Amino acid sequence: LTPPPSVVHSFRAAAAKAPDRTALAYFDGRLSYAEVDALSDAVAGHLAERGLADGDRVALMLQNSPHFVLALLGAWKAGAVVVPVNPMYKSGEVRHVLDDAQVTALICADRAWEAYLREAAAGSPVRIVLTACELDLQTRGDERVLNFERAPEAADAEDLLTVARRGAKAPDVAQRAADDLALISYTSGTSGQPKGAMNLHGNITYNAERQRSGHPIAEGAAYFALAPLFHITGMVCQLASCFANAGTLVLAYRFHPGVVLDAFAEHKPAYTVGPSTAFMALAATPGVTREHFASFQVISSGGAPVPPALVEKFRTAFGPYIRNGYGLTECTAPCAAVPPQHEAPVDPESGTLSVGVPGPDTVVRIVDEAGAEVPFGEQGEIVVRGPQVVPGYWGRPDATAEAFPDGELRTGDIGFMDADGWLYVVDRKKDMINASGFKVWPREVEDVLYTHPAVREAAVVGIPDSYRGESVKAYVSLRPGTETDPAEIVAYSKERLAAYKYPRSVEILPELPKTTSGKILRRELRDRA
Ligand code: ATP
Repeated sequence: LTPPPSVVHSFRAAAAKAPDRTALAYFDGRLSYAEVDALSDAVAGHLAERGLADGDRVALMLQNSPHFVLALLGAWKAGAVVVPVNPMYKSGEVRHVLDDAQVTALICADRAWEAYLREAAAGSPVRIVLTACELDLQTRGDERVLNFERAPEAADAEDLLTVARRGAKAPDVAQRAADDLALISYTSGTSGQPKGAMNLHGNITYNAERQRSGHPIAEGAAYFALAPLFHITGMVCQLASCFANAGTLVLAYRFHPGVVLDAFAEHKPAYTVGPSTAFMALAATPGVTREHFASFQVISSGGAPVPPALVEKFRTAFGPYIRNGYGLTECTAPCAAVPPQHEAPVDPESGTLSVGVPGPDTVVRIVDEAGAEVPFGEQGEIVVRGPQVVPGYWGRPDATAEAFPDGELRTGDIGFMDADGWLYVVDRKKDMINASGFKVWPREVEDVLYTHPAVREAAVVGIPDSYRGESVKAYVSLRPGTETDPAEIVAYSKERLAAYKYPRSVEILPELPKTTSGKILRRELRDRA
């Protein structure tokens, strides 16, 4: 593959080829490639005028809105390193990122600035603040309220769109090179303080190009941004791949199933990617039909386990086949995916759906505790080497040495590879449940729970047990209009799983806790248990 050096290069190439094509669609709004190019040039010009230097860090804390894209391209054009921050972050979490990455400029929602970010940033290295009034979409019962009201102008911040429309001249910085730092992406920190993975421009364009060349999506097609853009999967598989294909990126602020389905009907997207929980939510939305999915050429699911039962239920009800893909922030989203000509095999023994095969130039190995490669079919830790693997964590030589010995990424995931080269993810090393000395992998139990007709979402955790050490507990939420009880689900699992694996207790919740990127939070359920 010969990807361009940066997303700015692919964006500019698309803008030169199709200046009038819609680059961004957002509710009733449209911005063409030429407009987005000019507006982001102006953001870059403004940041440079304000003294932002090459390599300075810009924190970007917005939802899936045009503002996010203008700020991202603007910051990159100004030579900055972008630090995407989850807009759900609370004060202390934001402050950790601002200090750790030594952030100079912050671009965030005006309301968040007023509500708590001004205070969080006080005394931090931040000296430039741009705020944006993103479309504030609220739901009250069945009614959707589109709120365009502006928050009062802050004296200590400037409005992003005003700056963009003022049209400052773009700075004369050299375009980014492939080995320049593009992003510092903070991991969610399930294992200690969040660490910033350093994604290079070339890491991003490699994965975008791999996707563009591997999937039969027509040039100029619409890509729907289901995954959040502040998350690496959304950034790479949606934004960067869309611009590499000169496509239209359809944005809808935050994940709201009804709004998403309306946008599908209006924009007829060819591609989207999201966690499997998002597809379960769409499948359970009142009024959803096959027609909503008729335009899709490729639907991918990544970043979290994909239960095989969901893939089949979804295909039967709506048509599309959900393609599994495996990745981490540390390898700039996917490092393995299901190629378009194939469907992922299911391992006959464990019932696990394969996550696909490694991309070109990517070497995935399975190793034992000592680091030695294990034979096909045997479980071990997944390690990855390839053009999408980041060089390390920002300011953490020790953590870098530990996670990237010799430049190879140790994923912390347990998996195996079959003789044909299909990769399977068993689970996270640290989520293993030790029940009476037996290893239980939550994902295998969850896959069985998903075959139950009433189960919408499932998560399995280990809870302390004075007799077994740990025992298996399941949390589930139910599909609308179905009825069952915990005892029935325990009995169902007992019929299908070995005695040490089936959940001894089941609790039904209205909804399982998730990260904003849609991953079910086993950690929170463990705390609850
Ligand atoms: P942290 O590492 O701090 O807990 P996180 O989980 O948000 O944060 P990501 O880089 O977003 O970090 O997620 C990567 C992890 O998601 C992988 O290590 C793996 O456990 C899981 N994962 C990703 N894709 C798949 C998949 N297709 N099947 C199963 N698990 C997956």
